[in-house]
Amino acid sequence: MALLQIEDLAVAFGPAADATTVVDGVGFSVDAHETVALVGESGSGKSVTALAIMRLLQEPGRVTRGAIRFEGRDLAPLTEREMAAIRGDRIAMIFQEPMSSLNPLLSIGAHVAEPLRLHRGLSRRDARARAIALLDRVGIPSAARRYDDYPHRMSGGMRQRVMIAAALACEPALLIADEPTTALDVTIQAQIMDLLSDLQAEFGMGILFITHDLGVVAEQAHRVVVMYAGRLVERAETAKLFSAAAHPYSAALLRCMP
Ligand code: ADP
Ligand code: MG
Repeated sequence: MALLQIEDLAVAFGPAADATTVVDGVGFSVDAHETVALVGESGSGKSVTALAIMRLLQEPGRVTRGAIRFEGRDLAPLTEREMAAIRGDRIAMIFQEPMSSLNPLLSIGAHVAEPLRLHRGLSRRDARARAIALLDRVGIPSAARRYDDYPHRMSGGMRQRVMIAAALACEPALLIADEPTTALDVTIQAQIMDLLSDLQAEFGMGILFITHDLGVVAEQAHRVVVMYAGRLVERAETAKLFSAAAHPYSAALLRCMP
């Protein structure tokens, strides 16, 4: 059984009478321990797909067709409360811009400790100790001393590390990473990618890695899903895509690689 199974997903924005379909008939799966890259140029519907999986689409966006199954369970009928529990615990998401998911009023330590208290029922003390260990693990220097610092005092790369620690606090089965390195310098990008792949080896989570950077895909992904203008154009094992892309769009994308 796949960890995540998407079938014939369609998402539209706008009132029913005048809706724009921005994702149309997308289907793929992610297994445990596996990294699947979701690639496509800007505006192709990658983030909307991710938000649909998390059930975080904002009105007037809505899923109009298809199914999203996580660990064999259809997510659509779940109550918002059930979905919120899954989001905090079993599926985590990180974004391009850490400040969009880090709370400026919450210390970096609390970002990691709070989910442990909420979803794992850890005591304040245990959550703090675990959070420090995780912040240390993701490469925050002097994690214990910096526990009470606020996110705006950190560099982009360090914030991204905090977001990864917070996302992985509850050891989710699935991590959705939406262009997590796009806003970072190239050297920092490589460090964050290495960190993610080390953490995957340790934690065993499946990763849906959204990017428009095929260089990253070549190194990290087991399989690739290519989207164009809201539609799925190709699904392939990474080596296969790079040696013989079946679809002209994927081939063109590969030719644009540096
Ligand atoms: P990508 O992540 O691949 O760059 P997105 O998933 O963000 O692309 O966007 C896909 C399409 O959906 C785009 O045409 C975008 O303009 C549209 N879209 C995204 N969010 C909204 C929204 N809140 N309202 C209307 N259209 C949206
Ligand atoms: Mg996007």
